[in-house]
Amino acid sequence: MPAFMEPFRIKAVEPIPFPDEQQRRDTLIAAGYNLFRVPASQITIDLLTDSGTSAMSAAQWSALMTGDESYAGARSFEQFEAVMQELTGYPEIIPAHQGRAAERILLGSVLGPGDVSLANTHFDTTRASVESIGATAVDLPVTADPDTPFGGDIDLAALKEFLDAPHGTNVRCVVMTVTNNATGGQPVSLTNLTAVRRLCDEHGIRFLLDASRFAENAYLLTQRDPECQALTPRQAAQTIFSLADGCWASLKKDGVANIGGVIALHDAEIARRCRDRLIETEGFPTYGGLAGRDLAALAQGLTEVTDPQYLRYREQTARWFGDQLEDAGFPVVRPTGCHAVYIDAARLLPHLCPQRLPATALANQLYLAGAVRVSELGTLVFGIPGSNGEPDRPAPRELVRLALPRRVYTKSHLEYVTDVAARIAESPDEVPGYRITEQASTLRHFTAVLEPITSGR
Ligand SMILES: *Cc1c(COP(=O)(O)O)cnc(C)c1O
Repeated sequence: MPAFMEPFRIKAVEPIPFPDEQQRRDTLIAAGYNLFRVPASQITIDLLTDSGTSAMSAAQWSALMTGDESYAGARSFEQFEAVMQELTGYPEIIPAHQGRAAERILLGSVLGPGDVSLANTHFDTTRASVESIGATAVDLPVTADPDTPFGGDIDLAALKEFLDAPHGTNVRCVVMTVTNNATGGQPVSLTNLTAVRRLCDEHGIRFLLDASRFAENAYLLTQRDPECQALTPRQAAQTIFSLADGCWASLKKDGVANIGGVIALHDAEIARRCRDRLIETEGFPTYGGLAGRDLAALAQGLTEVTDPQYLRYREQTARWFGDQLEDAGFPVVRPTGCHAVYIDAARLLPHLCPQRLPATALANQLYLAGAVRVSELGTLVFGIPGSNGEPDRPAPRELVRLALPRRVYTKSHLEYVTDVAARIAESPDEVPGYRITEQASTLRHFTAVLEPITSGR
């Protein structure tokens, strides 16, 4: 592949911690072997998430200073509203403090008890919102084919079958998450979105986007879909938005800022209902739980994020990092997208059965070996806890995600991670399995306490 580099230079820097081997061991023990419980002061390279971890540009920092903190009708809201309207084509723009607030408010305005929401995949907080309403969230992802360029698509045959069946009358919305996290940040194709639009029209159902990574999906369309080659990433994004009735997004991702969310809609009546609900929990509808300066920084971030140079760098970084990790001996999930690289821990650690949490084991080893923090997406997160001492039902895959915060780490930081990975890959059979000693009944991965299994079994 052609050489690439960061399309920016660095204006403000932040020192990073280098805990030594003893400190890393002590820290992990004190954290109950759970990386969510490790303080950031003990992390050298933090690839836990790309959410809210972006580095802002000089233009965004200067926008903060001009933020208008008026309670109602602030200038910063007008800027944010204008950028969102131009980007999405939706007239109704409602800010919220982050993605889950936006989705809770919007879904609460279109779904009721007994209703059904269909999706390529509901993000976990989206599913929680649907279920808290008493509605049902059904995921219909395409079956993962590693070679497809559009692994984020919805299974159209399954969607049509569901809508045509008698229970299809309970469906109130189809949600397309762009890009689709659950399938490794893979994009959704324009063909798929167009077909969803047609099916929604035929059945009189609302079509909504979870647009948290809209810019990355748009860029991957310009690269992988012959029909989109002539479009700029911004035009591709506008095309995506034009197919749906509205969207919500976590702006902690492609807003390239540290906080924020949004609802954007065509329908003025639904927007009115959303604003009524928003006032109860987020505040007045022109600030939605954000400071005026946050809205100003987001308006700038949403302008910068579709820069083709920036998006090319994003995609090339993930591909290059994937190649490096593969050369180091890590099994990488292909194709890479933009926001993360995923490692197949089950393939690297075949001596660990799912009940010994191979993805957790690999994540903890990356910390012990080099204070690198990543997230586990295996049986700790997606397994079904066994009752009465039964073993857990394993997750479908044992993945570890190395997320790429936007504009934060350079190539040499990622080379450091590759070196740490290479050391682990030299003797993977020495990586111990883990067992859970304490867990909550839901979302156990955030707070669980674990211990390594040192004796063989
Ligand atoms: C992050 C995310 C959300 C939730 O947003 P928060 O800002 O974390 O509340 C919803 N959907 C997708 C696809 C996301 O990535």
